[in-house]
Amino acid sequence: MENLHPIHRVDGSSASSYKLTVVVPLFNEESVLPLFHARLESVLEHIRHDWEIIYVDDGSTDQSPIILQQIKATSARVGVARFTRNFGKEEAMSAGLSLASGDAVIIIDADLQDPPELMPAMLDAWLAGADIVNMRRLQRSGESWFKKVTAHAFYRVINRLSEVPVPEDVGDFRLLSRRAVDALNLLEERNRFMKGLFAWIGYRNVTLDYNRDARVAGKSKWQYWRLWNFALEGITGFSVAPLKIATYLGSACAGITFIYAAYFFLKTLLVGESVKGFPTLIVTVMILGGLQLMAIGIIGEYLGRLFVESKRRPLYLLEEFDAPRASEDLHAYREQRK
Ligand code: UDP
Ligand code: MG
Repeated sequence: MENLHPIHRVDGSSASSYKLTVVVPLFNEESVLPLFHARLESVLEHIRHDWEIIYVDDGSTDQSPIILQQIKATSARVGVARFTRNFGKEEAMSAGLSLASGDAVIIIDADLQDPPELMPAMLDAWLAGADIVNMRRLQRSGESWFKKVTAHAFYRVINRLSEVPVPEDVGDFRLLSRRAVDALNLLEERNRFMKGLFAWIGYRNVTLDYNRDARVAGKSKWQYWRLWNFALEGITGFSVAPLKIATYLGSACAGITFIYAAYFFLKTLLVGESVKGFPTLIVTVMILGGLQLMAIGIIGEYLGRLFVESKRRPLYLLEEFDAPRASEDLHAYREQRK
């Protein structure tokens, strides 16, 4: 094992022997990619550590793969992994984490919404002993009020339901220590709600604040339907509370029905009312039908996910991985030491 204990990391003198891996998941980012790389590289050139960048191309259909090849040709420290198709950002991040060879890993979006200039501060927090450096967005420029409101609502719901608190306004921009990355790589589930998984592994968390910029170019890949499914993924992946809804709603309905029936029974005995009440009948039937379908639907959400998990398909498929030169050497070195 390497020196994983933070005591060793606090020692600034040996800091330069550490390596940072920057993982960049991207999908159709041709318009920002050259700019992004230039900005990232100019930051990395000034840090005291060794570094590598791993771009994970999540099946881009624009010029991104060609741009990545050009970038790769200019720097031996760049690695490019390409998926066989678009698998999604969570999968792309997972791939990046398992390909990373650094002692610390930073995940960053390619659209420059997360400023690379914050990396030195993140590394400082890591050197001071943090395993996970979360980056909290103070302000979200260029995002609609609707997205902000729904995002806030989502965090409220998930934190009510989930046993591990998912910090609000912390995106995927973060630093992970080697042991945190190793822990994440152990998780084999197909449901990759990464925000939840980062929280689930525990370890020493530190949170830094920053202002999230607007996208420099290109369009956000998140449509509302996708976000909704993402939210469902998060909730079903980290809580079974919705499954209990049926139990409580059912009990409540049964209770009310019992009282209601007793009322009618007595009324007929005492007043002797003839059969009436088509509206109450239809309303009751429809409410019960609706509740039952909803309960089945909730069970279905979990069942569907169990189905996907049970097939144990790989999370993603790599078309190719062109590793950074330096990291190949490191891999060889590590193999030798085993
Ligand atoms: N991304 C990805 N696969 C996808 C969708 C997005 O790898 O299927 C990448 C995207 O290229 C970017 C990051 O994930 O680097 C964040 O995406 P985006 O900016 O669209 O999301 P937002 O910032 O609007 O939440
Ligand atoms: Mg973005």
